[in-house]
Amino acid sequence: MKKSYDVILVGAGMVGALTANLLAQQGFSVALVDKGNGQCQLSEFPYYDSRVSAVSRHSKALIEQSGAWQLMDAERLTPYHDMNVWDGLGTGEIAFSCDDVHLDELGHLVENQVLNQALLTQLESHNKLVDCFFASSVSHYEKQDEVMLVSLEGGPRLTGQLVVAADGANSLIRAQAQIETKEWDYQHNAIVATIELNKSHENTAWQSFGEEGILAILPMPNFEGRHFASIVWSVPPNEAEALLLLSPEMFCQRLNYAISNEFEVLSLISKPISIPLRQRHALQYAQSGVALIGDAAHTIHPLAGQGANLGFADAGALVDVLSKAKERGESLSNDRVLRRYQRARMSDNIRMSASMEFFKRLYETQNPLAVFARNKGMGWMNNQRLVKNHIISLALG
Ligand SMILES: Cc1cc2nc3c(=O)[nH]c(=O)nc-3n(C[C@H](O)[C@H](O)[C@H](O)COP(=O)(O)OP(=O)(O)OC[C@H]3O[C@@H](n4cnc5c(N)ncnc54)[C@H](O)[C@@H]3O)c2cc1C
Repeated sequence: MKKSYDVILVGAGMVGALTANLLAQQGFSVALVDKGNGQCQLSEFPYYDSRVSAVSRHSKALIEQSGAWQLMDAERLTPYHDMNVWDGLGTGEIAFSCDDVHLDELGHLVENQVLNQALLTQLESHNKLVDCFFASSVSHYEKQDEVMLVSLEGGPRLTGQLVVAADGANSLIRAQAQIETKEWDYQHNAIVATIELNKSHENTAWQSFGEEGILAILPMPNFEGRHFASIVWSVPPNEAEALLLLSPEMFCQRLNYAISNEFEVLSLISKPISIPLRQRHALQYAQSGVALIGDAAHTIHPLAGQGANLGFADAGALVDVLSKAKERGESLSNDRVLRRYQRARMSDNIRMSASMEFFKRLYETQNPLAVFARNKGMGWMNNQRLVKNHIISLALG
C-alpha cells in the first residue's frame, strides 16, 4: 500500500533539514524533498565556504537538541565573544561583549555547508521515519479532501497531511499556494568572500557602516598561525559589479580602505561572489494544508546576521505547535493549528525585518546633520548598559 506521511517537507537547506530532524524526534513521519543531491561541499582548511552564518545561542540550542551540533568538527566553529560596530563617517562606536551578559560567547560563526551537512547526516539516525527524495524537484501540489498530494518532476506522487515549504526565497510552494508577499529590493548586493588578515580577529565580529557600504568582518578559525575572516560587504548593485571586476590585489586595497586600519587584509582566499538582497515577507505563513518556514516565509538584510536564526526559530515553533496538535488529536493541516504557528512567529519576524530596514536607512544617509546625530546616538548608547543588554538579548534569540 502507498505510504502516507505526516509531513511532506520541501527543501533540505539548513532550515528544512533542522525541521526534519525535530519532527522525527517527535515521532512524525516525513518525506523530505530537495532538488539538490543531499551532499554538501566541504572545503579544505583554510578554504572556508564563503557562505557563513552567525548562529545565535537560541539556534545553537535547537541544533544541539536535534543532535547535529555535536556532529560538527569543533575546529570549524568560531565562537565570538565581542561585537564592535563603528560608523565609518564619524567617531560613533558601540561595543557589545558576552561579559556584559555573563555568557561564554555571543554566538558562533559556522560555514553553511558544514552545518547543513551535519543536519543531513543526523537525519540518517531517523531513517525509519524520514524518507529523503533528493535530486527531485516538486512540480506542483494539490489538496484533495483532507489529503495533500505533492508531485515530483518525473517521479512519484507523495501523499501527506501537511506540506511544509522550506524551499527558500523563491518558494514554488508559496507561489502555488497563492500566498502574497510584501517585498522590495534593498538596492544592495552582498559580496561574500574569505580573506586572510595580518593579525588575530580576537573572536570579535566587526561591523562598519560607512560611505564604502556596510561591511561585516566575521571571525573564522585560525589555521597554522594564520588568521582568517569572512566578509559580508553590502553595497549598491553597480558598485558590487565594479568590485567584482577588480584584481584580487585591488579588491584587497579597497577592502583595506573600507576597514579603515582596524586590520590589514593580506589576501583574498576565495573568489568574491555577489548576492542581490531583497526584503520579502509572506502575508500569511499558513494556508489550507501548507505552512511556510525560513526564507520561504521571509528574507531580510544580512546586516545583523539574523535570517537563518529566524528560520530556525520558525522550525522550533512549528514542531512545537504540531506536537501539541498531535497530543490533542487535531489534524496537522487544521487551519486553527496552523494559525497558532503563524501567531507564534509572525510578529517577531516582522519586528526583525523592520529593524533591518531602519538600520539600513539610518546608515545610508550621508547628510552631515544626520551623521552627527547618529554618531552622538552611538556614543550615548555605548554607555547605556541596559539598552545594550536588551539588544544583545534580542540578537541571542
Ligand atoms: C550574504 C548573506 C549573509 C547571511 N548571513 C547570515 C548570518 O550570519 N546569520 C543568519 O542567521 N542568517 C544569515 N543569512 C540568511 C541565511 O543565509 C538564510 O536565511 C538561510 O540560508 C535560509 O535557509 P533556508 O533553508 O530557509 O533556505 P535555502 O537555503 O534557500 O534552502 C532552500 C532549499 O530548498 C530547495 N528547493 C527549492 N525549490 C525546490 C523545489 N521546487 N523542489 C525541491 N527542492 C527545492 C533548494 O535546493 C534548497 O536546498 C545571510 C544571508 C545572506 C544573503
